[in-house]
Amino acid sequence: MEFRKLRLSGFKSFVEPAELRIEPGLTGVVGPNGCGKSNVLEAIRWVMGENSPKSMRGGGMEDVIFAGTANRPPRDFAEVVLHAVDDKGEPLEVTRRIERGAGSAYRMNGDDVRAKDVSLLFADAATGAHSPALVSQGKIAQVIAAKPTERRMMLEEAAGIAGLHVRRRDAESK
Ligand code: ATP
Ligand code: MG
Repeated sequence: MEFRKLRLSGFKSFVEPAELRIEPGLTGVVGPNGCGKSNVLEAIRWVMGENSPKSMRGGGMEDVIFAGTANRPPRDFAEVVLHAVDDKGEPLEVTRRIERGAGSAYRMNGDDVRAKDVSLLFADAATGAHSPALVSQGKIAQVIAAKPTERRMMLEEAAGIAGLHVRRRDAESK
């Protein structure tokens, strides 16, 4: 699977609708402190089904919704749309939207789907050759400072190979 485009609206600091193209190859997100780099990574994780408020740096799931500033009122929903191309070359559009007091809902190519359908879709993609690998700011420093064996584990994790080892151990223990 290859990611092509990300659309954000009301998600964290992205109060106005924003569209980010994701070109083939390695993508780096750079910019001054506080400009929203980590929020972009979190948006990608969130649309893929991340549900831990802690890994989204919030106390609750609704904390991803733009909370307002001194001169802008808060939003009542957040939406992230991920455009991708699947392994068969078919376009894929996944949307996740959360409304205050109403929880979050997913759509896949326009149809309502369950959270489980989305996490299964990306669980499979993570083990593929073109797996989406997200490396956060903190991890970069860890990769540089790590011992070779640790570094290999991190890279395997990023490439989605770690999942294969887990499945192999699981198969071997049967
Ligand atoms: P750094 O270089 O320091 O890591 P960064 O580019 O990764 O910064 P982020 O952490 O992505 O920046 O963005 C931080 C900004 O997002 C802060 O200004 C914070 O107030 C804002 N922000 C986070 N959540 C929300 C929210 N729910 N509503 C409004 N703004 C938010
Ligand atoms: Mg950051």
